Amino acid sequence: MFRLLILSLPMMVFAQELVQPQAGVSRELARLRAAQLADVRYGLQFTLAPKTEAIKGSARITFTLKDVQQPVVLDFRDLDGEGRIGNVTINAQAVSDAQQLNGHIILAARHFKTGANEIKLEFTTGASAAGRPLIRYLDKDDGSEFVYTLFVPMDASMAFPCFDQPDVKARFQLSLTVPNGWKAVSNTPSMKQDAQTIQFGETQPISTYLFAFAAGPFQTLDVTGNQSLPMQFYFRPSQRTRAAQEIPAVAELTRDGVKHFEQFFGHRFPFSKYDQVLLPGFAYGGMEHAGATFLREDAILFRTTPAQSDKLGRASLVLHELAHQWFGDLVTMRWFDDLWLKEGFANYMATHAIAALKVEGLEARSAWQRFYLGHKPLAYGIDGTRGTTPIWQDIPNLKDAKSAYGAIVYQKAPSLLHTLSFVVGEEKFQAGVQGFVQRHAYANAEWSDLVRAMEEASGQKLTVWADAWIKQRGMPEVTVEWACDAKGLIETLRLKQSDTQRAKQLWPIKTQVLLAYADGFEDRVTAEFVTATHEVKAAKGKPCPTYVFTNADDYGYGRFLLDGHSTLAVLKRVSLTRDPLMRAMLWGALWEGVRNAQLTPFAFLNAALEALPQEQDELLIGSLLNQVAHAYTRYLTPRQREMMAYRPEELCAKQMTEAESLGVRIHYFRALRAMAASEPARQVLKDLLAGKRTIAGLEIKPLDRWRIIAVLLAQKDAEAETLLAAEIKRDTTDDGRKQAWITAAARAEAVTKARYFNDYLTNKSVAEDWIEGSLSNFNSFGQSELTQPYLSKALAALPQQKRDRKIFFVLAWLNAFIGGQHSPQALSEVQRWLREAKPEPDLERKVLEITDELERIVKIRKAFENRR
Ligand SMILES: [Zn+2]
Repeated sequence: MFRLLILSLPMMVFAQELVQPQAGVSRELARLRAAQLADVRYGLQFTLAPKTEAIKGSARITFTLKDVQQPVVLDFRDLDGEGRIGNVTINAQAVSDAQQLNGHIILAARHFKTGANEIKLEFTTGASAAGRPLIRYLDKDDGSEFVYTLFVPMDASMAFPCFDQPDVKARFQLSLTVPNGWKAVSNTPSMKQDAQTIQFGETQPISTYLFAFAAGPFQTLDVTGNQSLPMQFYFRPSQRTRAAQEIPAVAELTRDGVKHFEQFFGHRFPFSKYDQVLLPGFAYGGMEHAGATFLREDAILFRTTPAQSDKLGRASLVLHELAHQWFGDLVTMRWFDDLWLKEGFANYMATHAIAALKVEGLEARSAWQRFYLGHKPLAYGIDGTRGTTPIWQDIPNLKDAKSAYGAIVYQKAPSLLHTLSFVVGEEKFQAGVQGFVQRHAYANAEWSDLVRAMEEASGQKLTVWADAWIKQRGMPEVTVEWACDAKGLIETLRLKQSDTQRAKQLWPIKTQVLLAYADGFEDRVTAEFVTATHEVKAAKGKPCPTYVFTNADDYGYGRFLLDGHSTLAVLKRVSLTRDPLMRAMLWGALWEGVRNAQLTPFAFLNAALEALPQEQDELLIGSLLNQVAHAYTRYLTPRQREMMAYRPEELCAKQMTEAESLGVRIHYFRALRAMAASEPARQVLKDLLAGKRTIAGLEIKPLDRWRIIAVLLAQKDAEAETLLAAEIKRDTTDDGRKQAWITAAARAEAVTKARYFNDYLTNKSVAEDWIEGSLSNFNSFGQSELTQPYLSKALAALPQQKRDRKIFFVLAWLNAFIGGQHSPQALSEVQRWLREAKPEPDLERKVLEITDELERIVKIRKAFENRR
C-alpha cells in the first residue's frame, strides 16, 4: 500500500498537466505525451496569399494511443492571440467540446480509442515581418514577396496545432497553395506541382522544430554534381549576380562535407535531399531543418570584401548546419536541457571537417588554432562569471528554452568535446560517436546516452568526468609554481586548481605542460589530476625553462594563468614562438592577465603594437586586433588614449595600406574603424569614403560606407551629417534604407537616443534585424553619458524582449546596453536593478554574465588610473 502510494503520487501530479496544462510546454506534459503517443503523422495544408496577414490551413493528425484514460492535449499557442480553429473532428465525429487553455487544445478522452486515432481541423494563424514564426519578407527592390517558417525552439505551435516537443517525432506531409509563379521548399522534395498547389513527399520521423517551409518567387541552382544526394540552393532573384559568384564554392564545400560526415558518423546522409535556402534578415546564421537548411543571406553572399576569417566563418556555418543533419536531426535531444549535445557537436564537427578538408588551404593545426580563438576566450569569459550555467541546463518549460542559447552551449560544449577526444583518444571517440548515432537514429537521446557510448567504446569510466564537466557549472583556474636548483634543473613543478566561483568545486583535468627554452626548444609533459594541488613528477630534473605554460595545444579547459616570471618572459618572447596555435594561446594567457587586472593594459598594448607588424598569421592578427581595440576603447580612459598618442590608430592606418596580404589589410581597416577617435584617424576614414585613399584589393562597398559614417557620427565629426545625407541619396536600395536607419542610431545627441529607444519598445513596424543592427551604434563607445539614462529602462524591458524576440536578441540587447558603459555608477545601477527587480532566474543569469565585463572595466580603470 505504502509502495503503491509513492508510485501513484507523481502520476497524479503528471496527469494534471493533461487536464489543465500550464502555458508553454512543461516537462511534465512532454513526458506524459511521449509516453501516451506513438506513430504520429501530420498532413498539413497552408494557403499562402499575397500580402495577407492571416494564413489559413488544415491539419490531419494521426497517432496511436496506448490507452484512453487521459485527454489528448494539442499545443496551439496562437489561439491566445490571432489564431482560430474550426471544424474539429475526431475519428470522423464532429467535436464541439474542445477546450482552450493556456495555448493548448484539450480534447476529452472519451473521443478516442486505444490504437489508431485521427484528428482533423481547420485553423487560421498570423504572418508578419517580425515577432512570429511565419515570417513575411517583402523585397522592396523588385516587389517580390517571400514567406518562411522558423519554429525553433517551440514555435511550430504558434503556426499550427501540434505536439510541440522534440521527442514526439512525427512524419509530415505538406501541401502548399501558393500564388502563381511561386516556388516552395520543405524538408522533402516536391512530388507534385500544378499552377497553385505544391505537394511534398512524407518526411522521415522528425521533431516539430525541424519541420519547415519557405515559399516565394525563388530562383534555384542545382548543385548535385556527381553525387547521389540531390542538392539545390534557393535565393532571391534580386541576388542572382552575387549568388552566381558565391554559391559554387559553398556547394563544393557542402559536397565535400557530406562525404566527410558520412564517413565520420558511419551513417549515410539521413534525409532524401539537402537544400540550402538563403533568406534576407534571417534571425540566425542558419537553422538546420531536416533536409532544408535556412541560412542568413548575408552570411553566404558577402557584402564586403572578405578576409580569410570571413571565408572560414562561412565554411564553419555551412558545415555546422550540415553536421546537424546527423547530430540534431537524425539523433535529436530528448529535451532542450541537452541543447549542448547538438550545438556542441555541430561546432566541434565543423572544425573537425575544416581540418580534414583543409578548407581555405588551412593546415589541421591552424584549424584547431581557429577553434581555440573562436571558442576558448568566449567560453572562459562567461564561465568565470556568476551568470554561468552547467552545460546541461535544467529547463522546466520549453518557453524558457531560448535562454539556454549562449556561449556555454556554443563555445564551452565543443571545447569539452575536444577535451573528451583527448581523454579517451581520437579513434575511440569516433567509435563512441558512431555507436551513439547508430543506436538512436531517427529517435531521441540524452547526454547520459552519449557518455555510455563513449564508455563502451573506450573501456574507461567517465561518470566522474561527465558529472564535473556537464552537470556542474563553472571552471577551474589553474596556476603553476616551479623552482629550479643550483644546477639549473627543475626541482619542483606544481599545478593548483581553484574554483573561479569560489565554491570549492574540483575538476578532473588532463593537460600538457609546456616547458619553453630560450633557444626555441620545447618540451611537454602530461599532467592528469583531480586534486587541488598536483606535483608534476615528470618535470623534475628537466632543464630549467625560460617559461612554463600549463595548457599546451589547448586540450585542457579552464583559466590557465601564467606565473609572474613566465608572464615577463612571454611578454618578451611571444612573437618568437614559431607555432601559431601556441602563439595564440600565449597571447590568450596574457589577455587573461589583463582581464584579471594583474597585467596593465599598457603592457599588453605595447607588446601587441610591437608584435603586430611582424606577425604573419592572419587569424591571430584578427583576434589580437580585437583585443587591442577592446583594451584601447574600454580599458583606457580618453586621457590615457591621448597619452598613448593614439598609437593603435596610427598603426592600423599604416598597416591597412602597407601589409602584404589582403586579409591582413582588411583586419587593420576594420580595427581602425572600431577604435577611430582621433582627428587624423577620422580623416583617414573620410579619405577612404572620398576615394582619395585606397586599400589595394579592398573595394569600399556600400556596407563599408555606412559603417564609416556611423563612426564619424558617433565621434561627432564635423562632416558626418553632410556625408550621411549624401549617402542616403546615393544608396536608394532596400538595404540602403535599412542601413541609413541603423547608422543614424550612432548620432551623439539625446533626441536621437530617445527616438530610437521608443522605436525599440513600441514600434512594431521596425524589423527585428534593423533593431539588432542598430544596438551597438546606439551604444557607441564614448557615448556612455548619453546612453546611461537608458540602462535601467533597457533592463526593465528584458521580460518583454525575451517573450517577443528571437533567440539571440536578449544577449545582443544586454551586450549593447551594458557594454556601452564603463563607470562605477552604471555598475551600481545594474546591481541595484538585480536586487530590486528580482528578475526571472534565466534573465538574472544573463545580466550577471554580461555585467562581469563591466565589473572588470571598472576594476581595471581604477587599478591603473594613474598609470601609463
Ligand atoms: Zn546549431
